[in-house]
Formats: sequence, C-alpha cells, structure tokens
Amino acid sequence: MTHETQDVGTESDDCAQNGGCTESRMDSIYKYLDGALEQQDFTEVRAHIENCTPCQSEHDLEIIIRDVVRRSCDEKAPESLKDRILHRIEALKTS
Ligand SMILES: [Zn+2]
Repeated sequence: MTHETQDVGTESDDCAQNGGCTESRMDSIYKYLDGALEQQDFTEVRAHIENCTPCQSEHDLEIIIRDVVRRSCDEKAPESLKDRILHRIEALKTS
C-alpha cells in the first residue's frame, strides 16, 4: 500500500480530493486548534486533516508554533520576579 508509486503533484491532488485547501481551510485549522469549531465542523476538519498531507503539516506546524510561543511567554520574566530579585539584592545588602 505504502509502496505504490506516487503521482507527481500529490499534494495538490490530495487537497483537491478533500474539497480543496483554500485560505478558509487554513482558517479552519486554526479554529480547530482553538477549539472554536462547532461539533460538526470539528469532525469535518479533523477528518480532512487526517487525510490531507499538506493540511496535516500545516496543523503540525501550527501546534509547534503555538508550543514555542507559549513557552517563550512562560519564560518571559514577569514584573513580580524582577521585584523578588530586587528585594533579594536589597536583603543581601542590608544583611
Ligand atoms: Zn487539505
């Protein structure tokens, strides 16, 4: 099955078979990840992502991007941390 010869331009063919991958389709992937889709649309988009290689990579890429963004936000030193460090410096000075 996996060893069948692949047609040239499979990516766009896959998408065409799945109703095409327009910008609104990409938008659906973002909404899908946001959990902003209705149950019916959610099932539809999930089925499409599972069967469409370009959408799958778009979906995976978006997950990675979101993960990186989330992590970089967590690691950004909040004001409270800066205050704690300043207080510690003060404490060290006075001790
Ligand atoms: Zn697609």
